[in-house]
Amino acid sequence: MGDVRVRFAPSPTGALHIGGVRTALYNYLFAKKNGGTFILRIEDTDQTRYVPGAEAYIIESLRWFGILPTEGPEFGGDYGPYRQSERKDIYKQYADQLIRDGNAYYAFDTAEELEVMRKSDAEFKYDGKTRLSLKNSLSLPEEKVKELLEAGEHVAVRLKIPVDESISFDDHIRGHVTFSSNELDDKVILKGDGMPTYHLANIVDDHLMKISHVIRGEEWLSSTPHHVLMYRFLGWSAPSFAHLPLILKPTGQGKLSKRDGAKFGFPVFPLSWDSDHEEDNFTGFREDGYLPDGLLNFLALLGWSPGNDQEMLTLDEMCEAFSLDKIVKSGARFDIDKALWFNQQYIIHADNLKLAYMIQDQAIDAGYHVSIEYLADVCGLMKERVHKTLEIITNARFFFEAPHVFDDDTIRKKYKPENKVHLIAIAESLKTVDNAGIELAIKGYIQDNGLKIGDFMPLIRIGVSGTMQGPDLIKTIALITPSEAADRLLRAVLYFEKLN
Ligand code: GLU
Repeated sequence: MGDVRVRFAPSPTGALHIGGVRTALYNYLFAKKNGGTFILRIEDTDQTRYVPGAEAYIIESLRWFGILPTEGPEFGGDYGPYRQSERKDIYKQYADQLIRDGNAYYAFDTAEELEVMRKSDAEFKYDGKTRLSLKNSLSLPEEKVKELLEAGEHVAVRLKIPVDESISFDDHIRGHVTFSSNELDDKVILKGDGMPTYHLANIVDDHLMKISHVIRGEEWLSSTPHHVLMYRFLGWSAPSFAHLPLILKPTGQGKLSKRDGAKFGFPVFPLSWDSDHEEDNFTGFREDGYLPDGLLNFLALLGWSPGNDQEMLTLDEMCEAFSLDKIVKSGARFDIDKALWFNQQYIIHADNLKLAYMIQDQAIDAGYHVSIEYLADVCGLMKERVHKTLEIITNARFFFEAPHVFDDDTIRKKYKPENKVHLIAIAESLKTVDNAGIELAIKGYIQDNGLKIGDFMPLIRIGVSGTMQGPDLIKTIALITPSEAADRLLRAVLYFEKLN
C-alpha cells in the first residue's frame, strides 16, 4: 500500500452524531494501523445549513475520545486550508475544465421552475432524458446561452452524465458495485453563488489532499458513481472506497436518527449541546456519565470485529487489530444496554482518582465540598455498583450527608424495640474506635452479647446510609468515620422507634 491518507469530512450542520464518531474512529484506526495520516476536513460549502459552534463541537468530541487528526483546521498540515469555505477559489477551475471537455454544462433553471417540474412528476430527474427540454447550455441556442451567462442569473453547473453506461467500482466492504448511468441525475456541482456543492468539493479535495481511502457512511454509496465519473473526466485516479454499514435503531428497524435519543431516552451525541433554542438542546454521553474509552470500544464493535471473541480492546489494540475486511455489510443495531455494559467494565477498571476528577463538578454542584482524595475513595467503593459515573454520587449521597430517607420496609421487618439498647451501645462504642476497631465494635459486641448478626447489620446499614444498597458496611463507616456513623445511628434509632 502506498501512503495511507484518510479523512473524516463532516459538515458543520449541528452536533456530531454518534454514527459520525464511528466513521471518524474507523478512519483513525485505519490510519494508525497502516502508519498513515488521519485528516479532518470541514465540509462547509452549504452556507444555508451552517451551524455556528458545530466545528468546535466536532473537534472537542474527537479530543474527548482521544482520536485527534494530524492534519486539519487547528492542526495544520501541508494540504490546507482544511475548511472548504476557505478553498472556494480552487473549485471553479475544475468545473470549468469539466465544461470545456463537454462533461458538464451550465443550467439556468430557477428553483421555482424545477419545483414545478417536481410537482407535476414525482419521479422527475434532471438527466439525459429531460435535460434537452430544460433551460441549459445544451438545449438553448448559443446566443441565448451567452446572454444568460452575461446576465449571470441562476447559473449552476451540472455534471453531464453519459447515457447507457455502467459505472463500477470496488468497495472494500460492499465488493464490486455497479450502477447504470441511466439511474443517475445530472447533479449540480457548482451553484449560482460560485460555491461548489458537496460532490465537486469532495472529489477535488480528496484528490488534492492525496486521500488514498474514502471511508464513510453507507448513505454516500449512491453518490459514489457520480464521484467515480468526475475522477475519470478530470483524468485522476479515484481513491479506494469503503462504505460503512448503517447503525440501526435499538429495535433493529431503520437507521438510528438524531431524534432517537429523545425517543428512546439515551444520548446519541457524544457531548451535550446548549443552544439558544431550548428544544434543540440535549445531553451527551459525556455528561450522562460515559467514559470515552468504553464508548469507543462499544462503537468500534458496531459493524467491525477483531476476528476473535475479544470484546474489551484498548485504542491501541483496536489499531493493531483493525482491517477493513472485518467490517460487515449488514447494519449494526445500537444496543444501549451493551454500551452500558462496556461503560461499567471501563468504570470498574478505571483509576479512582481519574473517576474522582470526572465527577468533581457534579459533587460541587450537589453542594458536596470534599477533597479529591475523599472522592476517589468513594469511587473506589462505588465503582463496581454503577453503570455510569453519575450514579457514583446519585447512588451514594450517604458518603456526603446523613440520610434523610430510610428504607421503611426493612426497618419494619427488622426493628425490635428490645434491640434499641444494643444499637445505642454499638453507636457508643463506634464513637471510641478508629478505623481498625470498627469491625470489633460492631461484630464483637453482637457476638459477646449472644445476638444475631442478621438482626443488626441491616439496621446499622440503614442507620448509616438510609438504604440496603451500598458497598461494604465496614468500609463505608471507615470512610465517613466511625464517629459520624455513630451520630447517624443514634439519630436513626429515634426514627426506628417512631416508625415502629
Ligand atoms: N460532508 C459529508 C458528510 O457530512 C462527507 C461525506 C464523505 O465522507 O464523503 O458526511
